[in-house]
Amino acid sequence: MRKLLLEIALATALLAGIAPAGAADRLQVVCTLTDLGWIAEQVGGEDVEVNVLCPGEYDPHFLPARPSLARALARADLLCYNGLELEVGWLPVLLDKARNPSVRPGRPGHLDCTEAIAGILEVPDQPLSRAQGDVHPHGNPHYLLDPRNGLAVARLMAARMGALLPEAAGRFAGRAEALAAELVPRIDAWQEVAAPLRRHPLVHHTKQWEYLADWLGLELLGAVEHRPGISPSPRHVDDLIDRARRAGVRTLIAAPWNHLDVARRAAERMHAELVILPAAVGSIPEATDYPAMFDVILARLRATVPQE
Ligand SMILES: [Zn+2]
Repeated sequence: MRKLLLEIALATALLAGIAPAGAADRLQVVCTLTDLGWIAEQVGGEDVEVNVLCPGEYDPHFLPARPSLARALARADLLCYNGLELEVGWLPVLLDKARNPSVRPGRPGHLDCTEAIAGILEVPDQPLSRAQGDVHPHGNPHYLLDPRNGLAVARLMAARMGALLPEAAGRFAGRAEALAAELVPRIDAWQEVAAPLRRHPLVHHTKQWEYLADWLGLELLGAVEHRPGISPSPRHVDDLIDRARRAGVRTLIAAPWNHLDVARRAAERMHAELVILPAAVGSIPEATDYPAMFDVILARLRATVPQE
């Protein structure tokens, strides 16, 4: 009976020339990363349907380009991606397979979220070669680990969603501002939690945490795997361990997808504790959304220094 009523309602709407409200009217948004997916959902609300390509527990540097991911992209009105070559190993392949002109480079449905970022870190002043590992030749791409950048991305998404679905533009802009109103006080609170951490230098396992450190004023002494995708030389590790001991480093931070056995051995040799931090929404179960990810990061870091 319900199905019949629904069909009648649909037929009436079609006869009246009104498109039935539902999934077909919503902007189909595909995001490469879970952090971007969460932001897109906050900004898009019921006006969008969001799909995420890289699950939170996968290292986005090395996602396998499976056919199911290309199918999601084939239906998309808008692709939002991190950029700075974070997804270079798989997104171009998927874009080719998807054969969807709407999301090709240069089209309004193709959004490199780097556009929102004012201060890109580590932009090289000379060309790099692949021999230096899985380097990011246009600068460090891990800007979403600074929540102020997440907020800038939200506003960028709102503008682009509004251009693609003008009747909802006001709602997109309003939701982005509501998100800002929620996040700004939390950003202040996280900065306060971090204050005692500023006197304690850290080592990170792979180059991932520069934006977090830059935002919170933390000192990163170096990375164990300083060339992503390439095993570090014993000499580099020995040198880093030596410097870490002299600096009194007590914490080595790692993403859940890092080589944790290698990280654990390095931490032991530094007389430091290995602390695993969520590097993406969903990378550990507690990081249920973007603000929760920072709650966990700050709580775990704060627990490494004595209460004062
Ligand atoms: Zn990276």
